[in-house]
Amino acid sequence: MKVILAKPRGFCAGVERAIEIVERALEKYGAPVYVRHEIVHNRHVVEDLKAKGARFVDELDEIPAGGITVFSAHGVSQKVEDDAALRALPVIDATCPLVSKVHHEAQRYARGGRDIVLIGHAGHPEVEGTMGRIDGMVYLVATPEDVAELTVRDPGHLAYVTQTTLSVDDTRSVIEALKVRFPTIVGPDTKDICYATQNRQRAVHDLASIVDVILVVGAQNSSNSNRLREIATEMGVRSYLVADASALDPAWLDGVESVGVTAGASAPERLVQQLVDRLRELGADEIEVLSGVEENVRFKMPPELAEAAVPA
Ligand code: SF4
Repeated sequence: MKVILAKPRGFCAGVERAIEIVERALEKYGAPVYVRHEIVHNRHVVEDLKAKGARFVDELDEIPAGGITVFSAHGVSQKVEDDAALRALPVIDATCPLVSKVHHEAQRYARGGRDIVLIGHAGHPEVEGTMGRIDGMVYLVATPEDVAELTVRDPGHLAYVTQTTLSVDDTRSVIEALKVRFPTIVGPDTKDICYATQNRQRAVHDLASIVDVILVVGAQNSSNSNRLREIATEMGVRSYLVADASALDPAWLDGVESVGVTAGASAPERLVQQLVDRLRELGADEIEVLSGVEENVRFKMPPELAEAAVPA
């Protein structure tokens, strides 16, 4: 049995930055550091940071006065930011700069007098954060069917923006539906979908054309990981989302000659390597990496942590 690894896979620059922000904050200020929501959608990452002294909370009122507060990579609404300011909490913002870019874009459209259609998944923290950044009317849609049912107050003044981790192809069909119903709508096409999401989707697409089954390392609540599994499935390849090597069912490999492995943007590489080790135990005797895009994106640290020690 052969294992083929997708490239790129796993951590993106936004996730690396968010984790490093918590680590540097722990170095600089000492434990505990309070993180609102999962810093990124991965239990292993959260557990590692907990062991180093991070405390994860659902809401700001769980943070004591003066507690160092980190906002997660998914971003927060204006209200959360205002509530933190009202309590004078020392905040370090780990929102991915590419999520912040979508916030600014939506605000610019809203200031220009347009109501906003956000393409994204209800309940995802990034979507809640983006909706809560827009001063004005926001409509949320996820599918062309949602667009067909959408009622807006001013069809002539609309703009759309998207969640950063959607499927490029699915998003294109939603945008097309919007343009048919609202011909004057403006928006960024699929450019809000971040480089990391697009690269990982292209790589899983390539992988799906040459393997029998695909394993995506990622959390159930990770949007971009779910999209990777869906893309492989849509290409007719059996695919499974696995939190780690222990979630692999050996029965999935019956009669399989080649296994493709990739990982969502919030999944650490060590989980991929543990999965590869498990596949070796189950008979894999050849491991190769598919050629793909070399990523060199790196985001700056927030100024308050720029000088903090880089964790080992
Ligand atoms: S997946 Fe994209 S938007 Fe999300 S944290 Fe990574 S780089 Fe940023």
